[in-house]
Amino acid sequence: MTEKSKADVGLFAEMVAKKQLWTVNPDEDFRAMLVEGLAVNWNRYGYFLCPCRDSEGSKEADKPLICPCAFSRADIEEFGHCYCALYLSPAFALSGKAPQGIPDRRFPK
Ligand code: SF4
Repeated sequence: MTEKSKADVGLFAEMVAKKQLWTVNPDEDFRAMLVEGLAVNWNRYGYFLCPCRDSEGSKEADKPLICPCAFSRADIEEFGHCYCALYLSPAFALSGKAPQGIPDRRFPK
């Protein structure tokens, strides 16, 4: 497995955002923290486990939690940002609002 640097992961996040028509969180410190979390998870597990969630114990079980996670699209549509707030909708980014804590769709009410 090839280790990934923070620069690699930053590029990955930019590519995901471009493909999905999202915006990467413009807060550089916050974004750097999440990018570092993704890099740590890649180098630990071999896949981009969400930096805001714990592993379920295997790649198979973690599949919905691999970035961009299975819940990101719905979260961005409903709240304007994903659970970690790495990705924002363009409208939310333009609003200048700060992302808030949102429920984890992994655990439906
Ligand atoms: S919540 Fe955001 S950063 Fe975390 S896996 Fe989903 S899309 Fe990626």
